[in-house]
Amino acid sequence: MFYKLLWMIPLILPMQVFAQQSSPAAANHGVNALALHRQALVFDTHNDVLSELTMKGYDISHRLPVGNTDLVRLKEGGVDAQFFSIWCDGSYGRGQAFAWANREIDSLMAIIRRNPDKIALATSAEDVKRIVAQHKIAALIGVEGGHMIEDRLDYLDSLYKRGMRYMTLTWNNSTDWATSAMDETLHADRLTHKGLTAFGRKVVQRMNELGVIVDLAHVGRQTFYDALAVTTKPVLVSHSSVYALDPVPRNLTDDQIRAVAKNGGVICVNFYDAFLDPHFSHRLDSLIDAHPRLRDSLRQLYPETMDFQIHFLKALPKAAYAIKPPFSLLIDHIDYIAKLVGVDYVGLGADFDGAEAYPRHMDDVTYYPLITKALLQRGYSPADILKILGGNVMRVLEANQPVGRQALP
Ligand SMILES: [Zn+2]
Repeated sequence: MFYKLLWMIPLILPMQVFAQQSSPAAANHGVNALALHRQALVFDTHNDVLSELTMKGYDISHRLPVGNTDLVRLKEGGVDAQFFSIWCDGSYGRGQAFAWANREIDSLMAIIRRNPDKIALATSAEDVKRIVAQHKIAALIGVEGGHMIEDRLDYLDSLYKRGMRYMTLTWNNSTDWATSAMDETLHADRLTHKGLTAFGRKVVQRMNELGVIVDLAHVGRQTFYDALAVTTKPVLVSHSSVYALDPVPRNLTDDQIRAVAKNGGVICVNFYDAFLDPHFSHRLDSLIDAHPRLRDSLRQLYPETMDFQIHFLKALPKAAYAIKPPFSLLIDHIDYIAKLVGVDYVGLGADFDGAEAYPRHMDDVTYYPLITKALLQRGYSPADILKILGGNVMRVLEANQPVGRQALP
């Protein structure tokens, strides 16, 4: 019973926050934000729950007291379609990375089989519409890191057949055929090539043929522009924010944002505090240094940096809240892209369960309605908001589908 009550807290909290931040209907142009959010097709392009919870044994079919995502909370947040990220780091080499990707896809399929009334696999825009009309969550597969094809086009085809509809050309690690933002900026001296190789261009061409969206999150600038020069379809940047507001190497410069708009693609803003706020990492480091005993004991329990930081912040909830950026900063990043190139090129790629901290009031997937409300308050029209929440991603998904061929063989 005690646990049951505890689990109700997240259910109640978002609505409270929503109510607290309410303002007169006039500020929202007479539109009810929650009603608009429920009506919208909300499509997020990056969630790491498979790696962070599922592969560690958690069952996301039920409300979980940990992490940012489960099927119950996705529904509460009004998330209709979700790209689930398939991920392993660069230490998974040949003979390992492709097998791991398949295991993660197996785990997603097992969740879908166990919850046929809640979630279904989508491999096309039509699938998304049909599944959402059935009041289920449309699950899409995005592979985060070209190293998972192990330099083999047959592996690319194989992942496509399993349902992959985007592939991020690199994660933080470069491949033999594409260089990452991290390597291009921090380890340039170690690189044997920069950008896309001839094989890398073949990968992009094959993705275009199959209908796998080219995802340019995480890639270095040379790879970014090389890929845009090759692709014949609109690209996705599944979880990156604005360099002008937070100059981390993996955020997009104004020139990159303009290039995506010119290509007809979409940039889905990452909610991670360190990609929104240039001062967040410094505040977090200072907080950790101020509590050496807690730091040392948690480091032993949680050797992975992200897990350690999540538990550290959980242990100091008031201080954790104090160092987080305001929710409005997330909206600033969306607004920046919309003002620079127009409202057709921006979307949501939260990176939930892929980072240790998100802005105030964005603790998990139940809080998406606050974005709708904030955009209304900033003067965005309902039609524009529908594009940002999911319409733009649907356009890119549709544009990548091969004409005259069923999405899945
Ligand atoms: Zn990522």
